[in-house]
Amino acid sequence: MVHPDNGVEQPAAGRPVVLRGGTVLTMDAAHTVLTDADVLVVDDRIAAVGRQLDVPEGTAEVDATGGIVMPGMIDTHRHMWQTAMRGYGADWTLTQYFVWYYLEHGRAFRPEDVHAGNLLSAWDALEAGVTTTVDWSHGLQTVDHAEAAADALLAVPGRFVLAYGNIQAGPWEWATDGSVQAFLRRRRDEGRLGLQLAFDVTGDPAFPEKAAFEAARELDLPVTTHAGVWGATNDDGIRLMHEHGFMTPETVYVHAATLTADSYHRIAATGGSISVSTESEQSAGQGYPPTWQVRQHGIPVSLSMDTSVWWSSDLFSAMRTTLGADRSREHMEAHEKGETVTSVHLRAEQVVDWATRGGAQALGRDDLGSLEVGKKADVVLIKNDRSPVSFPLLNPYGHVAFQAQRGDVHTVLVDGRVVKSEHQLVGADLAAVRRSVDATVEHLRASMGEEAWTAGMNPELPSEELLDNPYSYTEYKSASTHGARRSDELGDEIG
Ligand SMILES: [Zn+2]
Repeated sequence: MVHPDNGVEQPAAGRPVVLRGGTVLTMDAAHTVLTDADVLVVDDRIAAVGRQLDVPEGTAEVDATGGIVMPGMIDTHRHMWQTAMRGYGADWTLTQYFVWYYLEHGRAFRPEDVHAGNLLSAWDALEAGVTTTVDWSHGLQTVDHAEAAADALLAVPGRFVLAYGNIQAGPWEWATDGSVQAFLRRRRDEGRLGLQLAFDVTGDPAFPEKAAFEAARELDLPVTTHAGVWGATNDDGIRLMHEHGFMTPETVYVHAATLTADSYHRIAATGGSISVSTESEQSAGQGYPPTWQVRQHGIPVSLSMDTSVWWSSDLFSAMRTTLGADRSREHMEAHEKGETVTSVHLRAEQVVDWATRGGAQALGRDDLGSLEVGKKADVVLIKNDRSPVSFPLLNPYGHVAFQAQRGDVHTVLVDGRVVKSEHQLVGADLAAVRRSVDATVEHLRASMGEEAWTAGMNPELPSEELLDNPYSYTEYKSASTHGARRSDELGDEIG
């Protein structure tokens, strides 16, 4: 059938789909790669993976030749409400972010603004082949805000986890609030959204966050926490969590960039995982992206984009920057010792694993993250016949990590349903999303005032002194008279 919204053809609901003839990165435990292979989806499950599959009559066929078929990607930490301010904070540091959202303007977000940001971010994720996203939703000042956040996520055919948070109050306050708990119980029983609690542990020796951890335990919800963030959270928070027995396998530690080995040992020993947001850590200043040390501790890793108020929101960027940061560090440390790295430790294959299996493991979802019979059918086809970047396809992991981008995402299935087809989202009314985001931007701009709006987007530039240079262009000119060209000729050229 042709979808009324954008004219893209998509199989009718319930019709099986087969992706034919692609390079299939199964991301199973052995990382099996199949060439010229098919993936068959029946209902919400992967029904078969292999060559020249027999398929049920009436199965819709997607030509995957020349493309890569891989599991849907999983982002374990994204502040989706902030997508309504896309790109505004491109030149921020973490300090400017904290001042803007936590202290000054975060309160100005109404429920409809959280809804607008989430809606935009949810489609944005699907468009990039991110089929599961944890909405690290720390702008939920009231339960109305939370309802709006959840409603927006449920309006988009992706897989989402609402990580409930509120930066305008202590977690020991909101997490123990009866109306918040009633919301969480109701949404949990509905079952369509995953849920977590999202809050940070300041390291206060009185450990006031204990009440929030107890609430999470009572509600049977995992906790996700920004840990090891320079100037905000450190080893003390980890130690307090550990000493009180709140470090569990389902706990997700975001960034974990400025921690000592002691904290990594505690995380490794309790089975938790680390969500690395390399683009964020490099630019905002939480600390050096930690994969170079985390991999020495055997701690499971997933990837995340953090927030589009600064950065991109696709996991291709996350994979690319994570490889770059890890290798930069490895080279730099070697050079400091006068050594040369001749073989890098972090491989493209590993970051593709982190973007898929790693995310599934972090969320305790062993039915996601790989293309294996019986798993949930969250599938991405990367294929762009019009692009010179699509061939030759020699190293599929390298292709995903360093060559592909969101525009190359051809087809996306979530739960067996086609949500992107022929490079176009299916059923997305982007004009309506744009209208609500425009209204949010207008509201924020008006409530801040033009001066604060402009100042917020353009942080003060510290002065930078130019170093004295012992050489000068004049010397170069006079020296060149001894060479092939005379200085007067050169002078003429440069005016
Ligand atoms: Zn964050």
